[in-house]
Amino acid sequence: MTESRVGLGIDFHRFAEGRALVIGGVTIPHARGLLGHSDADVLTHAICDALLGAAGLGDIGTHFPDTDERYRGISSLTLLKEVLSLITSRGWYPINIDATLIAQEPKLTPHFKAMKDALSEVLDLQPGSIGLKATTSEGMGAIGRAEGISAFCVALVQRDSQ
Ligand code: MG
Repeated sequence: MTESRVGLGIDFHRFAEGRALVIGGVTIPHARGLLGHSDADVLTHAICDALLGAAGLGDIGTHFPDTDERYRGISSLTLLKEVLSLITSRGWYPINIDATLIAQEPKLTPHFKAMKDALSEVLDLQPGSIGLKATTSEGMGAIGRAEGISAFCVALVQRDSQ
């Protein structure tokens, strides 16, 4: 019998001067980057939380606390790799993920192919099993004032059980 579960991940990071903008493992040319203890890859963090949530394993902050110097400036793809190990060690494997980025700036769609390539390599998924979308918030709220970027993600995982 195959057991299936879904998980949800949500993340927000604010913009800051003098930081690289890394989303989905891809460095995007922009005047500002996102602020965070790691590389602040908002999309990859949402994916990590969706996978952890689906497997019932808590959240990214529990596994990789921002008080831990080992994670300062770390590539979030490395964290995603560790998340994959955590879930696969319990028999879960990802089937697909689907994420939406909410950003007033910059335009993210042109970078989706590179993001899918980077994420699919880490997750061992076909790029077609990774859904990426982007929207603005129509100028509303903090995201609309371009104070930061948000990402939402759902993930489906399965495991074979007796
Ligand atoms: Mg985060």
